[in-house]
Amino acid sequence: MTLVFVETDEGGQVQLTSAEAVTFARTNADVLAGLVGSPPEQPPGRSATSGQVAQRPQGSSDEGVTVEAAVIGQLTDAATEQLARLGVETIHHLEHPELEAYSAAAWAQALVDIAPETGTVMASGTPRGMELMAHVAVRTGQRMAANVIAADADGLLRQVLGGSAFERLALGGDLQVLTIAGHACSPEDTTATTPEVIEYELEIAVEDLRTAVVRTEVETTDAADASGLTQARAVVGAGRGVGSENGFGEVLELVNHLGGALGVSRVVTGLGWRPHSEQVGQTGSRISPDVYIACGISGAIQHMAGIEGAKTLIAINTDEESTMVQRADYAIIGDLHEVVGAVNEEIRTRHG
Ligand SMILES: Cc1cc2nc3c(=O)[nH]c(=O)nc-3n(C[C@H](O)[C@H](O)[C@H](O)COP(=O)(O)OP(=O)(O)OC[C@H]3O[C@@H](n4cnc5c(N)ncnc54)[C@H](O)[C@@H]3O)c2cc1C
Repeated sequence: MTLVFVETDEGGQVQLTSAEAVTFARTNADVLAGLVGSPPEQPPGRSATSGQVAQRPQGSSDEGVTVEAAVIGQLTDAATEQLARLGVETIHHLEHPELEAYSAAAWAQALVDIAPETGTVMASGTPRGMELMAHVAVRTGQRMAANVIAADADGLLRQVLGGSAFERLALGGDLQVLTIAGHACSPEDTTATTPEVIEYELEIAVEDLRTAVVRTEVETTDAADASGLTQARAVVGAGRGVGSENGFGEVLELVNHLGGALGVSRVVTGLGWRPHSEQVGQTGSRISPDVYIACGISGAIQHMAGIEGAKTLIAINTDEESTMVQRADYAIIGDLHEVVGAVNEEIRTRHG
């Protein structure tokens, strides 16, 4: 069985990256099952952490390779329907007042309590997915592979060094713990199932509640919010080449024409020209738009790590030797203010 931790947004919808992870689990189900091997040695102290009484219900079966989802907190009809379309056969719904606020240890223990003894537990490679899977690996004494992008009979392939290199590995345990790199695959619906929803009686150990999220503040900008950046089909990127904090006029106009989002380089956020929520790259958001238009961005390896999923890459840069231009599907060599200004003017003319 493959158990996927599914994250939902404030509206109760399954997040795009979780839909990707479920799709990865379903389309690689047989391969992942074939990779399960003998367990690594248990580290001392394993399982002393459990204070919860959740148990997989009697009668649930690990026969055949099933894809099951774990949702912590609210489970909406919309999420259930989305998971059904993605081919999930069972939804484990973990709800408890103490789990309303995110707490890595308590959430991870809840997942450990329902995880199969043999199979795979995975999440998407979001900060939360990474943290939870690391806890799950430690608590079950199993090995973990982060940022997996593919699996075959020989093992797993994962991104390392911010996506600039790949590593092949096999985990070898009875329970594989994985995170799936953002945009390793696209969400894919299948013949809709009617998932069984299993509710649990949970007891949360006090020692697992030492840390919890007490407040969430959403940083918004005048161009787009952070989730808009990861979901946008068109992203206009802006780097140091814009020149100053006041140099985003043409770029923001193009964002609006395209109904897209603004993404920026770390230089831009480091200089305080734009907020960090707009940063793309290794230490920012990873995006997979249909088109990414990189304006005045050189193409440093840490930036490229965030745009690997872009289907079409267009560079606007004065330096034809820059990595961004070399890697682009299309490149325009010139001053971004002139080029983007001309594009905006053409769009305005065509739209009347
Ligand atoms: C641990 C670590 C993590 C990092 N994480 C990230 C990350 O997540 N995201 C990220 O972006 N960076 C990240 N960086 C920084 C990264 O290494 C680069 O420094 C950064 O991406 C460069 O930003 P830039 O392309 O805007 O600036 P520059 O490298 O200075 O490039 C500016 C580009 O603009 C062009 N240009 C100048 N004027 C114009 C003009 N008028 N018109 C058109 N083109 C023009 C230039 O030819 C040049 O190509 C990280 C670095 C480290 C060490």
